[in-house]
Amino acid sequence: MTSTSLPTPALLPSLIGMPKDSLETQFTDIGLKGFRLNQLWHWMYHRGVREFSEMKNLPKNIVEHLSQNYSLHRPNIKLSQVSKDGTQKWLISYDDNQEAEVVHIPEVNRGTLCISSQIGCTLTCKFCHTGTQKLVRNLTSSEIVGQVMMARDIFNEWPTPMGQRHVSNVVFMGMGEPLYNYDQVSQAIQILTDQNGICLSKRKITLSTSGVVPMIERCGKELGVHLAISLHAVRDNLRDELVPLNKKYPIAELLNACRNYPILSNSKRITFEYVMLKGVNDSDADAKELVRLIKGIPSKINLIPFNPWPGSIYECSSPERIHQFAEIIYKAGYVSPVRAPRGRDILAACGQLKSESQRISKLKQKTLDSQG
Ligand code: SAH
Ligand code: SF4
Repeated sequence: MTSTSLPTPALLPSLIGMPKDSLETQFTDIGLKGFRLNQLWHWMYHRGVREFSEMKNLPKNIVEHLSQNYSLHRPNIKLSQVSKDGTQKWLISYDDNQEAEVVHIPEVNRGTLCISSQIGCTLTCKFCHTGTQKLVRNLTSSEIVGQVMMARDIFNEWPTPMGQRHVSNVVFMGMGEPLYNYDQVSQAIQILTDQNGICLSKRKITLSTSGVVPMIERCGKELGVHLAISLHAVRDNLRDELVPLNKKYPIAELLNACRNYPILSNSKRITFEYVMLKGVNDSDADAKELVRLIKGIPSKINLIPFNPWPGSIYECSSPERIHQFAEIIYKAGYVSPVRAPRGRDILAACGQLKSESQRISKLKQKTLDSQG
């Protein structure tokens, strides 16, 4: 584990995350438009430079103006941890010292970066660590894109490689509900997928939602990314308890929105995430009902062994139970991979993320409680 505790310097606003048309509006006056703007974009997102002075083909007056008023800074890394299995987790902080977590999961031939869309979450899913942390605020597009750029800095992945990459896939499965921060997430996705920059394919970006039904259609039409739905239960009374948003958007409405998801075809399936909770949602009857519910939706089911966190009330289903559950789904014709828990030893697995300061303040509170 390595830790850096340098104070956050007073920083100029970052240009990262600003859409191209806003850049154009902002900088037309100084001649930064057309091919000049493309040059700036190329330096920022293809070459990943961190200083305007490195942008050798831009006129001096433009470089000076940008250097005096803006920056290209990424989030600060406050703590970096590496799991036994190679998963890495970074605790990052932003200019207001708010913290988020970013996780990198290396696999053969690819690497997935799990990024956050909010600090904390307004939803309070009962099995999720992030859900115990109140929403502090939404992240901006700059702060979301910054997470990816920071990872690319760490892996030395500039200029954008043509072939294999450490950061080949991005999943919005960190802290927060991305569809409750739609505008900033959408702006960030446009930048991440821009062909002349970071150049991630939409197919390699997965947005995971707990089921914000009214935003699902828009997400498909405008963003066209891969959709993952945190289903976790097949009956409304249980889902109301596990994913309280279900009281607002029950299972039938959610699945209806999935049926109508615009990019849906056999080649682009929806992933249903299903956390395996011992004795809660893991019976054969649950598996059969799951198969019945998703009938007609091109889908794949991702079984996630529950990842415990301090204070959680659930246990993970046994490997045999998970296997049996998966078997029923598989026999019904669906792909049902069991997600291998990664980075559990550093609390980097799904649903274990939480700002470190919150963990510490909880710990302090406990100490005070026990003293009082
Ligand atoms: N808010 C979004 C995305 C972040 S959560 C969502 O809920 O979809 C990413 C995934 O991790 C979700 O499927 C979530 O339900 C799952 N998850 C949360 N806590 C978990 C835990 N303790 N163990 C396993 N998976 C968990
Ligand atoms: Fe929020 Fe997702 Fe956790 Fe639910 S599972 S509390 S929506 S981050």
